[in-house]
Amino acid sequence: MRIGVVETDAGRALAMPLGARWLNLSAAWRDYQRLVEQQEGVEAPADVGDLLRRGLFNRSFYRRMAEFTQRHGRLEKYALAEPLRFALPLRPGKVVAIGRNYRKHVEEFDNKMPSEPIYFVKTASACIGCEASVVVKPWYGRVDHEGEVGVVIGRSAREVAAADAQEYIAGYTLVNDVTARDMQKADIADGQPWFRSKNCDTFCPVGPVVAFRDALSWPLEEDIEVRVNGEVRQRSNTKRFIFDIPTLLEAITRLMTLEPGDIISTGTPEGVGPLTPGDVVEVASPRIGVLRNPVAG
Ligand code: MG
Repeated sequence: MRIGVVETDAGRALAMPLGARWLNLSAAWRDYQRLVEQQEGVEAPADVGDLLRRGLFNRSFYRRMAEFTQRHGRLEKYALAEPLRFALPLRPGKVVAIGRNYRKHVEEFDNKMPSEPIYFVKTASACIGCEASVVVKPWYGRVDHEGEVGVVIGRSAREVAAADAQEYIAGYTLVNDVTARDMQKADIADGQPWFRSKNCDTFCPVGPVVAFRDALSWPLEEDIEVRVNGEVRQRSNTKRFIFDIPTLLEAITRLMTLEPGDIISTGTPEGVGPLTPGDVVEVASPRIGVLRNPVAG
């Protein structure tokens, strides 16, 4: 089960699958409020972040909306026209991105194996949705794709023990941790942080949707693949993490609070490579979907 945000002719709407169709969840929610709850004028949740903050990103809400749709014969009314145009599913407060979390990726850059998680932040303003362009300016130098699985936080998380980690996870999405590699290397050589090379505008595609936590395995064993112009560049499985999700959550929340809607981007596998204007980059995972972005100059 997954929820996303789509562009429709009438503006953005929440969307959820039901059988073979995707429903306009915002329209269903408004009718449900009016007909079942008999409430008028309650503002509809705008995105997955809103659902999280209102405690609605869960199976019981999903079932309620599905039952309402079926009982009232509204499947056709709410069905969204295909192909769907997914937008950013939520605007995270912060994306805490993990560096060097797959052995072969550490080796491809001759880096030292980390003894504890390495992490940095990607800003909310760098986030874009599916189909939005990643912009690569000539003065950035080499810019790489880094496909990653994102853990979407569901509850305020502070000093979380690894054993309790699962309770704090709402679901999973995909992240492309786009990186200005030349800039990053120059900054590292100079003792500077990774900040600017990771946070140029558009350098954090997120989506296409957020899959419910229990729609995926635990511990997480998901295939992840990155394709550029249809050619596979990265392919791995999250079971190859150096630090698993409970370890990451414990390490991060010992120092900083993660809020609902924040994302931990779990690191990229080997095979990172350059993007140039005109390319189309896709990060794919079977149970989450395909995060597809063209690259523009
Ligand atoms: Mg990365």
